[in-house]
Amino acid sequence: MEKVIIIRYSEIHLKGKNRGYFERVFGINLEKALKGIRHEIRRRSGRYLVECFDDSQTDYILERLNKVFGIHSMSVALKVPTDMDEIFAAAQAVCSRSGTFKVETHRADKSFFLNSMEISAEIGGRLLSANKNLKVDVHSPQSVINIDVREDGTTLVFNDFFKGAGGMPVGTAGKGLLLLSGGIDSPVAGHMIAKRGMNIECIHFHSYPYTNLQARDKVIELAKVLSGYSCGTRLHIISVTRIQEEIHKSCNGEYMVTLLRRFMMRIAEKLALKVGAQCIITGESLGQVASQTIEGMTSSNSVVKKLPVLRPLCGFDKDEIIERSRAMGAFEISIQPYEDCCTVFLPKHPVIKPSPEEVMKEESKLDVESLIDEAFKTRETLDL
Ligand code: ATP
Ligand code: MG
Repeated sequence: MEKVIIIRYSEIHLKGKNRGYFERVFGINLEKALKGIRHEIRRRSGRYLVECFDDSQTDYILERLNKVFGIHSMSVALKVPTDMDEIFAAAQAVCSRSGTFKVETHRADKSFFLNSMEISAEIGGRLLSANKNLKVDVHSPQSVINIDVREDGTTLVFNDFFKGAGGMPVGTAGKGLLLLSGGIDSPVAGHMIAKRGMNIECIHFHSYPYTNLQARDKVIELAKVLSGYSCGTRLHIISVTRIQEEIHKSCNGEYMVTLLRRFMMRIAEKLALKVGAQCIITGESLGQVASQTIEGMTSSNSVVKKLPVLRPLCGFDKDEIIERSRAMGAFEISIQPYEDCCTVFLPKHPVIKPSPEEVMKEESKLDVESLIDEAFKTRETLDL
């Protein structure tokens, strides 16, 4: 009797011509998720089986697989030779000793001498005689013993279905560049877009020495959390210190955040085009803070010329975002105190609804292009 894990993927996305491609990417992602753990993965009629792993690693493997987008559900099963005594022994091992149950059989091997109804009846009968506190309930049983008689002479027996991460295999929907701050929102935004199958690279802006090195470490930690879902990620770290100093020196202080955001977006687009990213992703949520009014978004959006800007959190309340942040395992890192570059030279009264004319007027006091080029030269890249 061998323990195996059944992985089911959502068929909906796998129709037609793309099926082979989706399955290939999904298979590669599964291998990446289980890198370093002894195992074998086999694809069988629309499902994958993880086999040949150490029993003690089961929970660890499930934990890793829980982060793989495209998995619809999973089950831990016992694999036995297709033989009624063996199947019964496995059913007995997965069945609870009391309460109500039913047996459900799926038989791919049509040559087996019993059909699925007969297998269910026989195994159900044997379970009843072996466990006096068990009762059959075919309508709403407390547990279902699933028996899957396969074509290769083996049978899988299991009773639980775990919900998978859902979504689409990462790598099937292109690549996006995420503006990753040290806050709660942007990692969640990256997670949501990765779930739709997109590869994510991250860009982070710092204003060292005004912000400290802990802020940087924190962002690296957040990028690592995201990396667990996005099959790895690359983090680009860029200094906007000079830009902020120039704005501080030359412009109306109330426009600091607005102007800085426009620089961030310009630099992000330039980098995105360089690394082949097809969109920019931010963690903005409408109306959450002063800089996230529709006027603020219009102002930062208008400098992005070639790519769409995705803002998956726009319609979310903060508590909904926090819930997702906890679920993805980023929250405890995000709430560690740190200095964001946006808090450096922060004016008492930042402009809330920046008018395009005023913004242009303030920005015209700066040499935008050379500041961008200079910032770009500070770029460091980490593979996580
Ligand atoms: P977050 O929790 O993601 O920091 P926030 O609620 O603090 O978001 P803002 O500080 O207004 O909101 O930032 C809005 C978005 O701008 C962020 O979600 C992120 O995508 C981007 N951003 C802000 N600061 C940085 C930074 N230092 N580096 C990269 N991106 C940033
Ligand atoms: Mg922030």
